[in-house]
Amino acid sequence: MSEPLLKVEGLKKYFPIQAGLITHTVGQVKAVDDVSFDVYEGETLGIVGESGCGKSTTGRMLMRLLEPTAGRITFSGREISELSNKELRAVRRDIQMVFQDPYASLNPRHTIGKILEEPLIVHGIGNAKERKARVLSLLNTVGLSDFHAKRYPHQFSGGQRQRVGIARALMTNPKLVIADEPVSALDVSVQAQVLNLMQDLQRDFKLTYIFIAHDLGVVRHISNRVGVMYLGHIVELAGSESLYEEPLHPYTQALLAAVPIPDPDFKREAELIKGDIPSPSNPPSGCTFHTRCPFKMDICTQQEPIFKEVKPGHSVACHLYNDAHHNDIKQSN
Ligand code: SF4
Repeated sequence: MSEPLLKVEGLKKYFPIQAGLITHTVGQVKAVDDVSFDVYEGETLGIVGESGCGKSTTGRMLMRLLEPTAGRITFSGREISELSNKELRAVRRDIQMVFQDPYASLNPRHTIGKILEEPLIVHGIGNAKERKARVLSLLNTVGLSDFHAKRYPHQFSGGQRQRVGIARALMTNPKLVIADEPVSALDVSVQAQVLNLMQDLQRDFKLTYIFIAHDLGVVRHISNRVGVMYLGHIVELAGSESLYEEPLHPYTQALLAAVPIPDPDFKREAELIKGDIPSPSNPPSGCTFHTRCPFKMDICTQQEPIFKEVKPGHSVACHLYNDAHHNDIKQSN
């Protein structure tokens, strides 16, 4: 297999918890705790989990909008964490982000034309005429018209604003786009249009996507591979087909059980997930999912399961797939 476009190794982000009059650190929120994955050129990697699982923090560290506590991020063969500010600016041309709430990320006092031109000015791309031409061209690419350049964000619908957010991300002709819940705030009918647009753009612009979502249903059709996060860890990572057809981790099984299926005869095998996600400032011992897991065993509270490949291209962190248990599981399937 070729070298990955993005390689993430042992990535951690701990936020200090501070207390007292003379502020001192009394603990840490382990928002992202030892996350590793690769992303290959032209693919879409979905990252899924409930809110607070660390998926958005991971996305922000990849752009270095947040400094990692530990770990390595290598993009196009260069380690991002070691770059100077100037070098980082050049890399940011190649990695762009689409946010969940385009309204919050679009300056309400600027016209869409100005908003779209800004990344070109920041990166010193083109003269005024060339920049204007690129703005109009990308507006058309995302399904909007030339006249929209003169309008303000509040004059757009949610779906149109997300189209603007996508156009802005593409202005610098990036290689990697990190989309953080790009359709979660949109109506279901509009979600499908934006997802289709993103797929078309991926093909036309040879883009690589990291697609962050809280719902496995949303990433299903757009992702080549999917990583499932729980309390700062990736607990399962596999090709889409393998993950959706044969989810191994009890958490993934529960997430899939929560995805609505329009078939009254469909019988669910996995139970819906119970209880709340524990606090990442005080994660459970051993397997952090043990407080909610219907298959919990003694070992689960004592030992953290190792994240390992149990089938080609399919990795999971769960004691059920230790060699001793693995045969039982196979038989019961
Ligand atoms: Fe459940 Fe144990 Fe697997 Fe964790 S390691 S998911 S508690 S069976």
